[in-house]
Parts: sequence; structure tokens; C-alpha cells
Amino acid sequence: MDDIRRQRTLVILKPDSIQRALVGEIIRRFERVGLKLTALKMVVADADMVEQHYLAEPTWREQVGKKILENKGGESDGKTAEELGDAVLQQLKRFMTAGPIIVMILEGAGAVPLVRKLVGSTEPLSSDVGTIRGDFVLDSYQLADGSGRAIRNAIHASGTPEEAEREIAIWFTSDEIVSYQTVYEHILYDVNFDNDLD
Ligand code: ADP
Ligand code: MG
Repeated sequence: MDDIRRQRTLVILKPDSIQRALVGEIIRRFERVGLKLTALKMVVADADMVEQHYLAEPTWREQVGKKILENKGGESDGKTAEELGDAVLQQLKRFMTAGPIIVMILEGAGAVPLVRKLVGSTEPLSSDVGTIRGDFVLDSYQLADGSGRAIRNAIHASGTPEEAEREIAIWFTSDEIVSYQTVYEHILYDVNFDNDLD
């Protein structure tokens, strides 16, 4: 799908968002910027789904491990980036299966970078004020590390359009994804406001 107006991203409200009753607040932020929901469901995930989801990005373990090596400046007990990333994956399996999650697809112009901007960076403590993670969560690498658990940062959002398409295929069948138009789209994208989108 090359039309930038129809870019799709996958968002997961992690178990901490559901427990903290942040579902409405988070979805409100996506709706008000002009994104369209095209699929949504509540799921109790198993560890296999969580592993498939994160490993949809084949270099994920290495990337996460490299960030840890950079932050710790070498005190990582001689573990490789891959091994450190794998430890985070095991922690995520526990976290993401601890309670129900909500999985959704959002569609709209530049949906992937737009949602990442609204979500904020991985560590809530250093996420910008005004972002979902920055506004609603106080967790940090230090706190998570000290208890040997995954960072509780309320939400997952795809990092690239390619990652989004792979993740969507893991969580949704094609008949769960709805194709429809909203009145909004004419105001957001239509050149003459005349109901002729193309
Ligand atoms: P993001 O969710 O911002 O795309 P990543 O893809 O790097 O971040 O990591 C996926 C998830 O794994 C994070 O959202 C967080 O919950 C957890 N995580 C990542 N790095 C660490 C870490 N060093 N310690 C604990 N949890 C981590
Ligand atoms: Mg990621």
C-alpha cells in the first residue's frame, strides 16, 4: 500500500494500560489527531504470540541488546547483544501475557511515525512530556533492571511501515480488518472538500 494517506500501524495497549484504565485516554489521542481505527480486539496473548510479534523484526534482539550495551558501557558480564536482547524477550513474554491486551490497527497519513511521536521513546522516565509514555508512566531502565523485568511503558507501536505490515499479519486475519471511509477524511485529505478523494 503506497498511498501515504493509507499507511497502517499496529498498536498494542499492554497489560499495564488495561489495568490502569488508560484505554479511552490513549485511543482518544489517536482519534483526535485524525487517525482511523480499522481493527480492534482484546486478546489474552500466549508467549508464542509475543515472541512472534517481537521477532517479526528479525534484528530486534540484536538492536535491543546493542542499546543495553551502549547504556551500560560494557558492564554486561561479557554477554553478547543477542543474549541481552533475548533476556528482554523472555521478560516481555511474562509481561505481555500477564493480563488482557488490546490490539488495533490505525490508518492515516504517515501513521507509523505519527503514532511513534505520540507514544514517545521507549523509557517513560525520559520520554517527552506530552507523549503517552511521558504523561502516564514513571518506569525507567533502572527500575525495570533492578527487578529483572520488562519496562512497563503502556503501549507498543510499530517502528517502520514494513514492521507494521508483518505485525498486522500476526495479530489479524484479513476479515477482521474493516475498510470504510469517515467524513473526516474529506477534511484531512480532499483537495476541494468536495467528497472526491482521488
Ligand atoms: P519500543 O517499544 O519503544 O519500540 P523496543 O522495540 O526496543 O522498544 O523494545 C520493546 C519493548 O521491550 C519495550 O517497549 C520495553 O517494554 C521492553 N524493553 C526494551 N528494552 C528494555 C530493557 N533494556 N529493559 C527492560 N525492558 C526493555
Ligand atoms: Mg520496537
